[in-house]
Amino acid sequence: MKALVYGGPGVKSWTDVPDPVIVNPTDAIVQVDTTTICGTDLHILGGDVPAVQVGRILGHEGVGTITEVGASVTNFTVGDRVIISCIKSCGHCTNCTAGLFSHCLGDEGQSGIGWIFGHLIDGTQADYVRVPYADNSLHKLPDGVSDAEAVMLSDILPTGFEIGVQYGQVKPGDVVAVIGAGPVGLAAMATVGLYGAATVIAIDLDQNRLEQAREFGATDTVLSGAADWKERVLALTDGSGVDVAIEAVGIPQTFTMATEIVRPGGHVANVGVHGKPVELHLETLWIQNINISMGLVNANTTPMLLKLVAQKKIPADKLATHHFTFDQMLDAYDTFGRAAETKALKVVITRS
Ligand code: NAD
Ligand code: ZN
Repeated sequence: MKALVYGGPGVKSWTDVPDPVIVNPTDAIVQVDTTTICGTDLHILGGDVPAVQVGRILGHEGVGTITEVGASVTNFTVGDRVIISCIKSCGHCTNCTAGLFSHCLGDEGQSGIGWIFGHLIDGTQADYVRVPYADNSLHKLPDGVSDAEAVMLSDILPTGFEIGVQYGQVKPGDVVAVIGAGPVGLAAMATVGLYGAATVIAIDLDQNRLEQAREFGATDTVLSGAADWKERVLALTDGSGVDVAIEAVGIPQTFTMATEIVRPGGHVANVGVHGKPVELHLETLWIQNINISMGLVNANTTPMLLKLVAQKKIPADKLATHHFTFDQMLDAYDTFGRAAETKALKVVITRS
């Protein structure tokens, strides 16, 4: 089969590799029909994720058709169309029973971490993928949901919702700022209304992304580079700051920005994956009773989000801006890697 193989920092190829086979009775093999590329894949190619070994097939998002199931898989059969969650879950370890699938202790990858596709085991940017713990790591794709919509449920939508909106404890009437209007920040904006946010402020350096943010629920936009960006944000509140600041970039500057606009007693929900330490000004934050949260997505809300996507209550389709076929995988990477120029949000790559 063909797959996108990591060859070390800066090196990737769309090349022939052996087909995956069932290793454990809880596995399924899925023919990938649609996949996409995540900023994390670019981080891996940048050499920022040393756990990824040379030869690894990348990708942790996908929609496909089951071609084989292990002997103990009971929830799925050959021919089922499924969404592959970016988080595998054994379903019965202490962390899984607590809903913390991101720290599933199931021994695949021997890591105690739920994100293993395209990280510790081969991923979804391939003709076929082996899915461990298939019963708990796949979701049946209902009629009426397109592959392009469904692939946003592998990672982007649950990440923005769980780590941004839920961890940020958004409440009805809140003023919520989302720093970073990439796919993850947009997913937070698209779901923050579920908890009744009144004002949703998108903050980004890129004017095009700010314009797109309005399609996903932003009521106001603020250009991050502007000298008066903070005054502009505060002017949209009662003057004391936002109730919830969601950080969806992953650099020290934007984490600091989040702490600078949150009101006393408010929440900073960090979603971004940071490659460098951030400065945490406890000396000023402690007396403002600020709550700070962070985490790896659990993907435990995917079934609920899938219902809302099916009802067209979340505009998942609008995240799919560019379309490619599998044999154009390297072009898709190029387009996604130049998102500021190409205006790409998510590139959708489909079996031809
Ligand atoms: P992205 O790179 O597509 O989007 C980031 C956005 O931030 C861009 O629009 C960019 O213009 C903007 N930006 C950059 N510098 C800025 C600044 N100084 N001020 C304001 N905006 C700025 O990334 P994405 O795919 O949307 O992902 C966002 C983050 O979420 C990444 O760090 C990613 O690794 C992380 N992530 C976390 C999880 C999790 O489980 N916690 C899961 C998936 C992704
Ligand atoms: Zn588990």
